[in-house]
Amino acid sequence: MAETAREPILEVRHLVKHFPLTRGVLFKRQVGAVKAVDDISFELFRGETLGIVGESGCGKSTVAKLLMNLEQPTSGEILYKGEDITKLSGRALKAVRRNIQMVFQDPYTSLNPRMTVGDIIGEPFEIHPEAAPKGDRRAKVRELLDVVGLNPEYINRYPHQFSGGQRQRIGIARGLALNPEIIICDEPVSALDVSVQAQVINLMERLQDEFGLSYMMIAHDLSVVRHISDRVGVMYLGKIVEIGTDREIYEHPTHPYTQALLSAVPVPDPELRGRRERIILHGDVPSPTNPPSGCHFRTRCWKARERCAVEEPPLAVPEGFEEVEGPARHPSACHFAEEKTRVSGA
Ligand code: SF4
Repeated sequence: MAETAREPILEVRHLVKHFPLTRGVLFKRQVGAVKAVDDISFELFRGETLGIVGESGCGKSTVAKLLMNLEQPTSGEILYKGEDITKLSGRALKAVRRNIQMVFQDPYTSLNPRMTVGDIIGEPFEIHPEAAPKGDRRAKVRELLDVVGLNPEYINRYPHQFSGGQRQRIGIARGLALNPEIIICDEPVSALDVSVQAQVINLMERLQDEFGLSYMMIAHDLSVVRHISDRVGVMYLGKIVEIGTDREIYEHPTHPYTQALLSAVPVPDPELRGRRERIILHGDVPSPTNPPSGCHFRTRCWKARERCAVEEPPLAVPEGFEEVEGPARHPSACHFAEEKTRVSGA
């Protein structure tokens, strides 16, 4: 991303999504809530790629659904170019939706097997007919196939006639059809072979440059988003625990959870592998219906102390780092943050 492009296109402020847990058949009463997203704030800048990473159940996919307006937040704001999209409805919401598109995780199940590729890619024009006059749609779909590196002559083929990587290209072409500004990618390459992952990521980078796209890349693995992300946010139990630039997170992580995730990333170089300190996290991720008091990570954190159980650490530049210059000075939700410079293998 260009250094000057620091205009936020999307601002998420204190976003909360709690799913109520109810009991009773005739007279339902709420007995608790699944705290899927629990007060998170971040920005997506124009032209950048923001990676959101965390274990399954951390809330990252719920964040994607909230941004796509597929779920209503319990509270909080999602500002697109300064306007809160959670308050929009009807035409105004439809207009915003056109500019925020999604590419799904699994290219094997996300495409309707009964539709031709031409119909799949052109389907968004049925919802937004103003985006392309009827007579121009086939030509537009051919153009999109070409843009994602597929032969336009394949327009009448069906999804089963393509490989996994090609199907993901079809999903990307569909995501591009309405010429959006933001694409939210939910684990876009995790179902693909490693060699194909690199091709799809390279394609996405090329398209970002060509069309000035902003990406939000959701993944469970830090190594997958490293190559493409300008910044990365790490999520744990509904909260962002650390956020920073690619260099800050991968080479100077300060939150114990990020340090543990990075220590599990495979390192191809045997010499580096030998020098690396492996951090094993014990126990399971606690239930989001009843997260631990204070710091949500404390039940698995080897550095936890008394303060961690009573005081929730804010996502901010940690105590003691305010005066520090350099990549260790970035927001991290830990009372006892410590820089762990690492030889990067991610
Ligand atoms: S606040 Fe305490 S429990 Fe939480 S990550 Fe930091 S040291 Fe660990």
